Amino acid sequence: MNEYRIKSIVKSLANINSANFFHDICLSLSKAINADFVYIASLDDNDTLATTIALASQGEIIENISYSLPNTPCEKIVNSLICTHRSNIQQLYPNDARLIDMSIEGYVGVPLKNVEGNIVAILVALFQEPISNTNEIETLFLLFSGLIERELHKKSYSEKLELTNTIIENSHEAILITDAHTRIIHTNKAFSKITGYHIDEVIGETPKFFQSGHHDKNFYQKMWSQLKRRGHWQGEIWNKRKSGEIYPEWLSISTIYNKVNQETHYVSFFSDITQQNKDKSKIKRQYYFDSLTKLANKKMLFQQVDQVIKQNCQEAQNIQSLCGLFVMDLDLFKHINNTYGHAFGDKLLRLVANRLKSLIRDTDTVARTSGDSFALFIKNLPDEQGAQRIAENIAKSFSDPFHLDGITTNCSLSIGIALFPHDEKNAAGLFKKAEQAMFDAKDNGRNSFRFFTSNMGESAARILKVKNELEEAINSNKLDVVFQPIISLKTQLCTKFEALVRWNNNGTWVSPSDFIPVAEHFNLIDRVGAIVLKKSCQVLKTLKNAGFTDIIFNINRSIYEFPKDEANNNLWLHVIEASGLSPSDICFELTESVLAPENDNNISLLKSIQDAGCKIALDDFGTGYSSLSYLRRFSIDILKIDRSFIKEMTMVRDDKTLVTAIISMAKALGIAVVAEGVEKKEQVEILTELGCDFIQGYYFSKPLPSQALENFLTKFSFTHPLTESTNN
Ligand code: C2E
Ligand code: CA
Ligand code: CA
Repeated sequence: MNEYRIKSIVKSLANINSANFFHDICLSLSKAINADFVYIASLDDNDTLATTIALASQGEIIENISYSLPNTPCEKIVNSLICTHRSNIQQLYPNDARLIDMSIEGYVGVPLKNVEGNIVAILVALFQEPISNTNEIETLFLLFSGLIERELHKKSYSEKLELTNTIIENSHEAILITDAHTRIIHTNKAFSKITGYHIDEVIGETPKFFQSGHHDKNFYQKMWSQLKRRGHWQGEIWNKRKSGEIYPEWLSISTIYNKVNQETHYVSFFSDITQQNKDKSKIKRQYYFDSLTKLANKKMLFQQVDQVIKQNCQEAQNIQSLCGLFVMDLDLFKHINNTYGHAFGDKLLRLVANRLKSLIRDTDTVARTSGDSFALFIKNLPDEQGAQRIAENIAKSFSDPFHLDGITTNCSLSIGIALFPHDEKNAAGLFKKAEQAMFDAKDNGRNSFRFFTSNMGESAARILKVKNELEEAINSNKLDVVFQPIISLKTQLCTKFEALVRWNNNGTWVSPSDFIPVAEHFNLIDRVGAIVLKKSCQVLKTLKNAGFTDIIFNINRSIYEFPKDEANNNLWLHVIEASGLSPSDICFELTESVLAPENDNNISLLKSIQDAGCKIALDDFGTGYSSLSYLRRFSIDILKIDRSFIKEMTMVRDDKTLVTAIISMAKALGIAVVAEGVEKKEQVEILTELGCDFIQGYYFSKPLPSQALENFLTKFSFTHPLTESTNN
């Protein structure tokens, strides 16, 4: 080995700076070994392509080249320690055109490895003459390969570092790096964008520089103690921008340790969460507030009530200030909604909200708890009379009508009041009791208020019991239907029956007037209606088969049974036809609210079943709005005068006048009239005289079980009704 040569290379290497290392070493080596070409080439991942990093030829650096490895002597290097060909290389590799072009005779190559021991590059010397001193060259090459490998490693490391820096620089999250003494040593672009500070303005500062004064000492102490313990902290923190603006950021700090587990750096990542916080508070608003009236919703109310109760219970043991929860329900709001439409209803609810707000202090709470229900929570009442005065005030204020869209509406409230600490010590319990009191107020005539009393719970429990038992009755097919004859005054024959649902609940007859509203309230009415229609159709089919071919059955339909979705409009017709009946065998009885303007689908359903042949009767005429405009919207076939008028007709002059007017109006419109609740002969006579078409009532018959119908029809006599024997 030529010591001098090595020394000269090492000497020249001492002056090499990193940037030119590969060039310089190729030049030095080529000089030392007298090679025509010396190069370092990196290999691609598949070891098929070599690309020179530095290429020295005849004492000069020339342009880099790429070449494919297969069929070249370099291919061998990848599999061996060193590859040397003293001469005749072209004959050995006839397919390597490059060797021929460059007139190469001799070849020495060594592999270069990365830290993991994988071959990533090669060091090659090419000679245009046969090599004389192969040993020396091989030794030099092996000697210097280690040095080159280290430099290659540095190069790839700095490339990786550069990548890391690019990532840091371009991260959307702000990054701030401090040394172990929390002095800032690096920040990125996003940092400047969020804080407004250029990196030069903050280098050497500590993150205290950004403190907003929003957090107390305790906050930072906790943060540091966690950072020390776990090496990580994250959370929301309020900092100050260069502009002075205070903003929230989501910050995550990690401690960087060295090999001996000493803290060397802290890296913070953060993003500005002003917008997220805004979104969050919007969501919170939607979660806790009613969007229509902007009042608190039930959740918010409960939270506030519970908070006040908690405070009260924590404070002085025996002094608990009196609070009142007022639950209020608008009387007849459904009717107003049905009459004037939902848009009107919504506006009215807003006016109600404003009126309620105007009646209380800012420190009290008004909430809209559901559709037409509101609640007030009043703190620090002097005594029970104080609560009573508030209720009276509300009732008085609501006796003034609302003026909206040129319409004047009266909208009274039923109010139930429960008091803390007397009645309950939590929001849900207080609300339930106030609600029970409100139901009681409603039951005892609307537009009134009630304080909760301990026996009120019973009526709510009763309703729930009815609901559960009704559900069970539906499931186990325990509902029955009876049929009340309707007599034609013209033919003096029974031509129709009204189907009326019956529920024998363990031996007690529950009146439909009691359970139909429960079924409506708990969404069971569809199932009740389906049972009644199906059973009635079966009974009617049997009657027809027995020869009573002209009989019509009247079926009651609650507004809640009308499908919301047009796709279900044919359901009733399907049931009728599936029973082997024709639509003209059935008349549906409904009340006025069904025909309200916004119930468009109801009208189109009625039109389509009327077109199919069904008759439509308007039930309980005279009790609702009796809005003649509804009668114009839909041409009903039959009008049933409510029994309250018939009852009073013989006693009150005005009622007879009214019945007279209804009958004449109906005649003018070509509508047939049924008088309901006819119990006395005298009533039959007056109605006959007034030209009424049909009579229904106990005078002729109470509702009958299905098996009694044939007998009734066969034996019926207009002049001698069989009242007693057929009663049900
Ligand atoms: P409605 O449709 O007005 O039915 C007439 C009610 O008056 C029936 O009471 C009937 O028994 C009763 N009634 C008949 N004639 C007389 C009479 O001369 N004097 C007296 N005092 N009452 C008479 P019911 O069966 O208790 O039904 C009460 C209400 O329940 C019905 O009033 C109707 O609104 C509802 N309902 C009954 N069955 C059904 C049904 O299947 N579906 C729906 N949606 N509602 C029904
Ligand atoms: Ca009816
Ligand atoms: Ca009726």
